Amino acid sequence: MDCCGHEGPGGGDAKFEIHKVADGVWAAVAAPAFKVNCNTAIIENSDGVMVVDTHSKPSAARVIVDKLRDITKKPVRYVVNTHFHWDHWHGNEVYPAAYPDAEIVTNQITREAMLMKGLKRIQDHVRQVPAEIAKLKADLAAAANATQRAKLETDLRLAEAYLAEVRALKPALPTIAFEGTMKLYRRDREIHLLHLGRAHTAGDVFVYLPKEKVVITGDAMIGWTPFMGDGYPEDWAGTLDRLAQLDFTHIIMGHGNVAGREWLVTFRSYVHDVVEAVRQEAATGATLDEVKQRVSAKLAPRYEKPFSAYGDYRPWRTGVLANIERTFAMVS
Ligand SMILES: [Zn+2]
Repeated sequence: MDCCGHEGPGGGDAKFEIHKVADGVWAAVAAPAFKVNCNTAIIENSDGVMVVDTHSKPSAARVIVDKLRDITKKPVRYVVNTHFHWDHWHGNEVYPAAYPDAEIVTNQITREAMLMKGLKRIQDHVRQVPAEIAKLKADLAAAANATQRAKLETDLRLAEAYLAEVRALKPALPTIAFEGTMKLYRRDREIHLLHLGRAHTAGDVFVYLPKEKVVITGDAMIGWTPFMGDGYPEDWAGTLDRLAQLDFTHIIMGHGNVAGREWLVTFRSYVHDVVEAVRQEAATGATLDEVKQRVSAKLAPRYEKPFSAYGDYRPWRTGVLANIERTFAMVS
């Protein structure tokens, strides 16, 4: 056990703010952290609870399980994974342990990606995080002032906690996988699990509550600059156009605060504009470095501010260069 008494329930360091989004629907919005945690959506049905996504490590999911007990006595029956990234499914094991009847649900593409890539990346993290920790320790030793030192100490603690958990991980793969669409008809609500095309990954699952007009997007939409490393920039805007055809007012995203439709418009146009600008530059025979420089300069006036709502956390300048690189690789 750790010494310091600042952990949340269950020893977890993950912090969440719970926001009610509709009757029986909550967003647990994760505080930005060095080892990022995703948001969780909580949907209370007549016969049990559905949660969407399980964070980067079991202790973070345990924080949600503790918070759930304040919300309802009902058991979790369904855990949905929106995609195969580590920070959305590493906490899966917590739910079947806490609720023996819980089923973990995703689509076939995402389950396959967990098997083919997700499991391997767990081993990659076990190998790579020690180097990350060594670098944080070196940076800490060289830190220029107390502010820097405090931040590095926090990051170091989170990295060490993550390493301990990822080493001990018992990856819980989905127990139900669907093709295309899956619909749950509960007494008090309908829940649609949808695949609208490729975007952040090949298999992004959207969770849609038509009556409550809420949609849960995973990382196909987030509050800061998207990660495109496993994404399909050329398909992304089209997928979001299909999303836009649904009737909803509230968007629970993979990261960041609950948003409205105006953020969908901004986010979609950013993804679209990156692709168009990179295509244009690539067609002139520009090098990757030239494309990065020109496209980021072109997009900055319109997008730097809206994509900087979380300050220095995941800065737009870094994000857009990675987005351009991925897009360039895909269009070339
Ligand atoms: Zn992701």
